[in-house]
Amino acid sequence: MEIEVLGAYGGETPECRLTCLLVGGTVAIDAGCLCRGLEIERQLDVEAIVLTHSHADHTNGLPFFLDNVFGRRKGGVGIRGSEATLYAVRKHVFNSSTWPDFTRLPNHLEPVLEFEAFDDEESFVLGDVTYTPIRVNHVVPTHGLLLESGNSAFLWSSDTGPTERLWEVASRTENLKAVAIDVSFHNQLQQVADDSGHLTPASLRTELAKLTKDVPVYIHHMKPQSEAMIREEVAALNDARVRFFEQGQVYQF
Ligand SMILES: [Zn+2]
Ligand SMILES: [Zn+2]
Repeated sequence: MEIEVLGAYGGETPECRLTCLLVGGTVAIDAGCLCRGLEIERQLDVEAIVLTHSHADHTNGLPFFLDNVFGRRKGGVGIRGSEATLYAVRKHVFNSSTWPDFTRLPNHLEPVLEFEAFDDEESFVLGDVTYTPIRVNHVVPTHGLLLESGNSAFLWSSDTGPTERLWEVASRTENLKAVAIDVSFHNQLQQVADDSGHLTPASLRTELAKLTKDVPVYIHHMKPQSEAMIREEVAALNDARVRFFEQGQVYQF
């Protein structure tokens, strides 16, 4: 399956774009930089967006994306997320105050935006990829996603602190090709990472011990001010599986 990394950071600068992946050109996972990372003509090809959680660095592009595609595409765009995530997005973004309620535009019968809730570990299919949400450990309800297509699987986790179920799923998935995991802060900010539900290189070391497979583990969601130190500290782990997701790259798993 084809994964394009539009944004690989947990903070925003002119060089660093917020979390957003594009699967096969038509499904976005998170929407941090869905507009900043993608030309409008390609935004029109996005048919569905899967949200891992409600935080702004993962939902930031939604209002402007809908603005860009409104009236220009046939059919609506489906946004999938947990009940908690969709509730937060409805209440705090598309509330007619922060931004228009696109679930009622151009009318409530054929809206441009439709919400569909998913449950823990209940799979759904978009295009030729099956998505299974796996609950992880963050400060708001958050899911990683197991993506499976043909004989290939990719396990994506957006934001999480130390977690268990994700690694159980990784270890039991036969065709697992790669994992992607949050490392947001350098080791000196361990307490901040613990309090905010993220990993450091030191806590990544503990997490990697739970992965029984020899597959690439891609790091993403670095805070820009921690990036240089994270790269040094990750190199010092000396784990050949670990590498960094590079913004703008297309990966085939
Ligand atoms: Zn985040
Ligand atoms: Zn978050």
